[in-house]
Amino acid sequence: MTSIRTLAAPVCLAAWRTWRRMVPQDGYRALLFHDVPPSQRQTFAVLVGRLHTEGRLISPARAAAGAKGVLLTFDDGFQSNLEVAETILAPLGVQALFFICPGLSSLSGSAQAEAIGRNVFDGKRSAGDLRIMDWDGVERLRALGHEIGSHTQDHLRLTALGPDARAEQIEGAAEAFKTRLGAVPEWFAYTFGDAWSVDADALARIARLHRFCRSGVRGVNTADTHPHALRADHVELGGNESWRWLAVEGGLDPFYRKARAHLDAMAAGLQA
Ligand SMILES: [Zn+2]
Repeated sequence: MTSIRTLAAPVCLAAWRTWRRMVPQDGYRALLFHDVPPSQRQTFAVLVGRLHTEGRLISPARAAAGAKGVLLTFDDGFQSNLEVAETILAPLGVQALFFICPGLSSLSGSAQAEAIGRNVFDGKRSAGDLRIMDWDGVERLRALGHEIGSHTQDHLRLTALGPDARAEQIEGAAEAFKTRLGAVPEWFAYTFGDAWSVDADALARIARLHRFCRSGVRGVNTADTHPHALRADHVELGGNESWRWLAVEGGLDPFYRKARAHLDAMAAGLQA
């Protein structure tokens, strides 16, 4: 069935590109991926290949320095992320940012599968064949030149937790990274990503330990964006191509003004 979205996407994309030519974009966009299953690898490779050819991809270090471009980020540490890093990113020399949950990477077998279903998918589906990479996998990512960020200890929704559990998920995760990798990550991405899955208290805890906090709220990151209210664009690899490029090029930004304002208000309240 052809949805309205499928029909409208090419028109929206063309209109957006015309507008963008008149108003060039400053700053960088963080693209957000999760699991990249074998059935979507080709789509992913085409997308990344094109961004690479156009010279638009930037490393986490360059994003941290405020460069203009597109940063690739991956949430949850799925095993497929490592495969993608080895087979698609490494040949291009592309460096990306991977957000890992230490508690999930330390689990294996059925215990990990249960935790994926309960925490990552919020109980809405089961893990199936999906697995999270172990610490050897995380080490391999680092050896390939990628940056590791914290995605909470166990992938819990911070706003649903009391003070002790928040400490375990934010400060506890930082401690786990320090033990396993020798340092607290500069980057943090809170779980679920919408502007209402974090609050001022959680953001303050994150800001005390991490230089950057990335949300899942769509938008561009400029010099004016608060480092603890960074935006990211979730990219659907299974969907329509024009719709995907619309997300990559910021065409969906107008729908997230309210979310960005909410996030910015919380970040503005953080003590310098
Ligand atoms: Zn996640």
